[in-house]
Amino acid sequence: MTKISLLKRADYNMAENAVKEAVDLLGGISSFVKPGEKILIKPNLLSPKTPDKAVTTHPEIVRGIIRLVKSAGAVAVVGDSPGGVYSEDINNLWEVTGIADVCKEENAELVSFEAAGSREIDINDANIKKALFSKIVLDCDGIINLPKLKTHTLMTFTAGIKNFYGVIPGLRKVEYHKLASKNEDFARLLANIYLFLKNKIRFTLIDGILAMEGNGPSSGKIRKMDMVAACADTLMLDAFLFDILGGNKTAKNHVLEVFGITSEDLKHLTIIGDLPGNFNLDNFTFPQARKLDIVPKPIVKILGKFLWVKPIINAAKCIGCMSCAKSCPVQAIEKKDKEKRPSVIYEKCITCFCCHELCPYKAIDFKKSMLVKLFMQ
Ligand code: SF4
Ligand code: SF4
Repeated sequence: MTKISLLKRADYNMAENAVKEAVDLLGGISSFVKPGEKILIKPNLLSPKTPDKAVTTHPEIVRGIIRLVKSAGAVAVVGDSPGGVYSEDINNLWEVTGIADVCKEENAELVSFEAAGSREIDINDANIKKALFSKIVLDCDGIINLPKLKTHTLMTFTAGIKNFYGVIPGLRKVEYHKLASKNEDFARLLANIYLFLKNKIRFTLIDGILAMEGNGPSSGKIRKMDMVAACADTLMLDAFLFDILGGNKTAKNHVLEVFGITSEDLKHLTIIGDLPGNFNLDNFTFPQARKLDIVPKPIVKILGKFLWVKPIINAAKCIGCMSCAKSCPVQAIEKKDKEKRPSVIYEKCITCFCCHELCPYKAIDFKKSMLVKLFMQ
């Protein structure tokens, strides 16, 4: 039986206790971490957003884990590689997300995955022959994964497994979107990264006190979920969370499909702590663009070319910073000389939605085909 600890905690003032309790319910930190080990703590630091925006793992969750790791006699190192161009000003990201202060106060090393250097690794992926991994990820003794509970416009849902995409440094992440451009291929890439790291992962603890629904992972709606959950098995934690959020009824999760996870597998989970029924889970919404995934295959075969959702730049919100263009793997965003704002070249666009994920001003909306507008609102 796989154990999942699930706790209801209403705010981040209680985060340290919640983290400790969640790990204690799984057997305590000493069952995961040994004295003298170098443990990499991997939060989700997607972009420079303050903790109240629910885009990044809350610093108080990170503090709780640093203290636990140290209490076990191990060395705590915190690190990540943000999305798109944000690694170019990593100190700003550390400051804004609150991670710099926590690491300083707790005397834990804070490592940029780019600055740590990288190595190419064969992860047995059909599209990415050699994947570039940050050296710190390869050289540490173990990893504690601290994702944020959010939706994701490309992958439907981001929790434990998707958080490991951050081990790929800098803009290489953008490049792999081009090489694994179909949803199924990108899900397989995430699965292969996870499988490569699996033996190093001590446990995953998810920050779902403030979660995100709708068009995540950065422009969705903040949802107060009051949830902290932990498990030694990242895949089963993701499967459990997706299920209790109603994902198995209303959406599709390509990563879980790669692993062939079914409702039968969920029966082998033991939930310790609070019951799922104690949480505000009703009518959780998944990204609009992913409604395409649940159209039956025979309909897609006939009407596929009339069923689409594409990014469109909202002129009222866009300030012309061009971060989206730098994050586009196929250079499908361009600004003409006399124009203040860029536009999307649809002939090139592979609908990876990196631009939507990384626009700091929530200025990427969705343009829908007539059929999608009529039948999939
Ligand atoms: S859409 Fe967003 S990222 Fe792109 S130029 Fe406008 S504000 Fe910048
Ligand atoms: S325009 Fe946006 S959705 Fe299209 S390929 Fe570029 S980043 Fe991806």
